[in-house]
Parts: sequence; C-alpha cells; structure tokens
Amino acid sequence: MKTLFYCEESSHPTSLIPIVSQAVKGEYAIFWLGNENDAPKSLAQLVYVVEEEKASPEDVSATIKQLVEKDGYNLIVFPSTRRAKEIAPRLSISLKAGYVEDVKAIEVRDGSNMVFTRLSYGGAVVEKTKVKTPIKILTLAAESEEKEVPHVDGRIEKVQLSKAFDAKSILEERGTRVEGGLTSAEKIVAVGRGLKKKEDITLVEELAKTIGAAIGCTRPLAEDLKWFPKEWQVGLSGTIVKPKLYIALGISGQIQHIVGMRDSKTIVAINKDKTAPIFQYADYGIVGDLYQIVPELVKLLKIS
Ligand SMILES: Cc1cc2nc3c(=O)[nH]c(=O)nc-3n(C[C@H](O)[C@H](O)[C@H](O)COP(=O)(O)OP(=O)(O)OC[C@H]3O[C@@H](n4cnc5c(N)ncnc54)[C@H](O)[C@@H]3O)c2cc1C
Repeated sequence: MKTLFYCEESSHPTSLIPIVSQAVKGEYAIFWLGNENDAPKSLAQLVYVVEEEKASPEDVSATIKQLVEKDGYNLIVFPSTRRAKEIAPRLSISLKAGYVEDVKAIEVRDGSNMVFTRLSYGGAVVEKTKVKTPIKILTLAAESEEKEVPHVDGRIEKVQLSKAFDAKSILEERGTRVEGGLTSAEKIVAVGRGLKKKEDITLVEELAKTIGAAIGCTRPLAEDLKWFPKEWQVGLSGTIVKPKLYIALGISGQIQHIVGMRDSKTIVAINKDKTAPIFQYADYGIVGDLYQIVPELVKLLKIS
C-alpha cells in the first residue's frame, strides 16, 4: 500500500500519520501545500512541495492526480478540513476512486480489506464502509492525539501546480464580471431553457454588454447543462438578487426561480408562450421569439 497524505499549514500531518500507519503498512509520502521552509520533511521519506498556498481546489486536485498516476499511490488521506473537502471529491471523480468522508477509524481485515468507520445521522449510526476501487480517498476526522511520529530525513520534491482550466479567462471573455457578483449587479440579463444551443450564449452576452449587465440563468442551464457557473443561477437554490433591472429571456417563471428575482425593481420578460407564469411578475412583457427580439433590441439600444 502506498499512501499519500495531503497537508497544509492548518492541518499538520502529525495527527494523521499515526492513525493511518497503525492500520496500514507500507510506504507513505506527504503532499505539502505551502512554503518549502515549513514542509514537514522529518515526517516522511518524500515530501512533495507546492508553494502556491492560494491554489484553487481544481488545480490542487489536478496536481495530486498527476502524482498519484506517476508514483502509484493507492490511498490518499486528507484532513477533514473545509478546504480538503473541496479537493478530495474532485480528485475522487477524476481518478474514478471511491471516497469516504469524515472517517474516524481504519481497520484492515483479512490482511488487505480496509474498513473505514464513520458516524452518520448526527452520530446516531456507526457506519462501516469498504471501498472497492483500487485507489481509495478519504478525509480523516479522527481525534488528533499529537502522537510521536518517527523522524526521518525526508527528500523534498518541488512540484509545479497543474492548471485544471483557466477559469479566470473564461469569465473575462464573457465580459460579465461585476464586482461583488450577481448580488451587487444593478442590471441582470437572465436566460433560461428558451436558449437552444450553448453557442447562442453570445446573443445573451451581446445584450448584457450593451447595457452593462451581469448574466444570470435558471437552474437547468447551470446545474444540468453546465453552460454557466453555479454562482450565476438565480433562485431558491441559487442566488437571490434585487437589481434595478431584470431581463428574463426564455424563462418560464417557476416559483423556484421567481423567489430569487421577484424583488427586482423592474422586470422585463421575453417569452414566446403568452401563458408563461413569468408574465405575472413582469412589469413589461414581450411575447415572441427571443432569437428575433434580442438582436433587434441590441440594435435599438446601440443606436440610442
Ligand atoms: C428543490 C428545487 C430547487 C430549484 N431551484 C431553482 C433555482 O434556484 N433556480 C431556478 O431557476 N430553478 C430552480 N429549480 C428548477 C425550477 O423548478 C424550474 O425547473 C426551472 O426554473 C425552469 O427553468 P427554465 O425557465 O429555464 O425552463 P423551462 O421551464 O423549460 O422554460 C423555458 C421557457 O422558455 C420559453 N421559450 C422556449 N423557446 C423560446 C424562444 N425561442 N424565445 C422565447 N422563449 C422561449 C418557453 O416558452 C418556456 O416558458 C428548482 C427546482 C427544485 C425542485
């Protein structure tokens, strides 16, 4: 078994290593996110150091994935911190590896079968979980008794942070960045399933740019189609907004969306179905095809 511990300033590995090494035998290494001088090189033979403390969870996950594939780790242990819980599930998906959260104890049965113990239903149930995938990922929430860890003379391997994707440039390209995000935008152009193809987003962007508005969307476009980031979703399970102007394009007006925007000062709705509920909340409504109306609107706004 080769174990990799993820550690950062706020979660020193001395509390994790003894708990794992009591049950799991084999080699282990540390992935250290922080300054090289602070790296815990006396605790493992090999310490990977990434000196980018503010790295995004996506980039950290991409970097760990490369190391796991290169050096063949089959158990990756994270502390149960908020930040680690943003990284570990991403790593689990990218490696197709089973993931158990908030593990309290580890035991090995029949020589190789690992069993993870965690509490569920607010501590009412003790859950014992086996992970079938060859690579296993967990966050460890065991009580930290700062036990002595044998000191070694570890080797540092500096690692470049991998870029999962360039999120910043995607947002800038769309030209819809508003300081403080959707909640502080004075104008929002929001779009729903009336938009047929991802490429048609340019239509919405053109209108938003013309009037200096942020872009919002309904849940299907953020959660199901993933055309927009989740933070741009307006509604019950998204962001609640109160702009001066809210333009709803191809949005039916289901209550879960309405609760997120009904306090907007002026609501304009464009929908080809005249019975769409959104019109009950709109100050101005246009019944028609957004593909015809939006370009006309942009033309008129550019002239005036
Ligand atoms: C627990 C829960 C939480 C939810 N949270 C949210 C939330 O936070 N935010 C949210 O938005 N939803 C949320 N939903 C989903 C919500 O119930 C609706 O499914 C969703 O809002 C519908 O999105 P829509 O209006 O884009 O799609 P649809 O309801 O499919 O409406 C599409 C509209 O586009 C119109 N249209 C089609 N083509 C054109 C065209 N060419 N021109 C003009 N109009 C056109 C149609 O007439 C239709 O009215 C939640 C649901 C649940 C169960």
